[in-house]
Amino acid sequence: MRVASSHPAPAPAAGELLGHPRGLYLLFGAEMWERMSFYGMRGLLVLYLTDVTRGGFGWSRADALSLYGWYTGLVYVTPLLGGWLADNVLGQRRAVVIGGLLMMIGHFLMAVPDLPEAYWLGLPRAAPLYLALAFIMAGNGLFKPNISVMVGQLYPPGDARRDSGFTIFYMGINLGALLGALVCGTLGERVGWAFGFGSAGVGMALGLALFLWKARDLLGGIGLRKTDADRAQIAAARAAAASQGTGGLTSVELQRIAVILILSFFVIFFWAAFEQAGGLMTLYTDEKVDRHVGTFLIPTTWFNMVNSGLIVLLGPLFSALWTGLAVRRLDPPIPLKMALGLVLMSLGFVFMLGASEQADAAGKSALGWVVAAYAFHTMGELCLSPVGLSMVTKLAPARLASLLMGIWFLSTAIANKLAGVIGSQAEEFGEFTVFLGIVLATGAAGIVLAALSPVLVRMMHGADQKTVEPVPPVPAAVPGGPA
Ligand code: GLU
Repeated sequence: MRVASSHPAPAPAAGELLGHPRGLYLLFGAEMWERMSFYGMRGLLVLYLTDVTRGGFGWSRADALSLYGWYTGLVYVTPLLGGWLADNVLGQRRAVVIGGLLMMIGHFLMAVPDLPEAYWLGLPRAAPLYLALAFIMAGNGLFKPNISVMVGQLYPPGDARRDSGFTIFYMGINLGALLGALVCGTLGERVGWAFGFGSAGVGMALGLALFLWKARDLLGGIGLRKTDADRAQIAAARAAAASQGTGGLTSVELQRIAVILILSFFVIFFWAAFEQAGGLMTLYTDEKVDRHVGTFLIPTTWFNMVNSGLIVLLGPLFSALWTGLAVRRLDPPIPLKMALGLVLMSLGFVFMLGASEQADAAGKSALGWVVAAYAFHTMGELCLSPVGLSMVTKLAPARLASLLMGIWFLSTAIANKLAGVIGSQAEEFGEFTVFLGIVLATGAAGIVLAALSPVLVRMMHGADQKTVEPVPPVPAAVPGGPA
């Protein structure tokens, strides 16, 4: 599909494939390998820290979960810095390369404490572990926000394919998560920890190599460092806005940024509920769900693949849905899509209420409850997460795009830390109460967001309008909007 826009983005060098810029598939591939390494390593971390029989650290469950909580929180704080660096110094492309390198080193360093002592270079055994985590956090900070921003830059403002493009990109994320669970998880659990973490390092190396090989051909001018001319233009824009007394931003830009911040607040509810998957829901599945199919006992960790698997399966449907609706000018505004995501999350936890009722009455609950819960969480995720990434690239002024993407990920940081606190309440109040609390909180957040939607849409000043052929001529999508 071709699009009309009076605000073209930097033109990608290579044309289109399956209706999307070819650069999308490069970013898809690089992100897939990066997420393979990220989730592959994350899935092994707690097991490795608590393991006593296979050369792990032998920590208590509480200590391991506490480090896990800090790690999953902090790893999403660094995108703020990585975003700022890309906007102001590096450009997104270099930031992704440096970030990928740091992550790769981090994953290889994770393997070191599992090697014979001579390789620890006389340091305490935990030293390479902490160093590894620091490398991965720094690397994720540079990689994650900036690769997402480049996806947005593939599409000019007003291009109806943007949400759909982000949904395809999101499938790459989850294909990577699946690969990580299968490859790193299996090698780490069955062969040796060093093999699991080492394979994550190899995955990241593949992503980096792919990016270095193809970026020049497929990304054209996207994500390059700012030239002196760009800087001069930015300085002029700032000066013009400063004369309005709004700190270097026009009032339209300020309102759009406010929308990003408000939506970033609401998604904290979503991710704090979603991240129960790795904690409370996994423990619950392990202890209280009848996981037998015939005589086969399904391993608890397999349940986590329902989410990534369904994203990959349902992604094309959602991607086609967003484009189809957008072309007919029927797609719901961004805040409504995200509100729907929150409501679906809430409904998902209603199934967990059913599960706990049944487990209380019969000792165990049927596995269908948990699978249904994950299915609803996944549909909610597809309404909220790729749409959110897309939203940031639509609303952020170009010169602040990566920094604001960093702020978007800060919600994930807060939510990940919060998720642990919420999940641990189950010990005191019981699972049913915690699940009920989540149903009410996410449901209420969804309803409030839906009610705020008209106000938020006004504050976007047309940034979400589509200018798709063959419906010409449409006025400029974003008068004076992000370039
Ligand atoms: N599954 C998403 C990813 O890894 C979640 C990130 C987020 O919390 O925004 O990109």
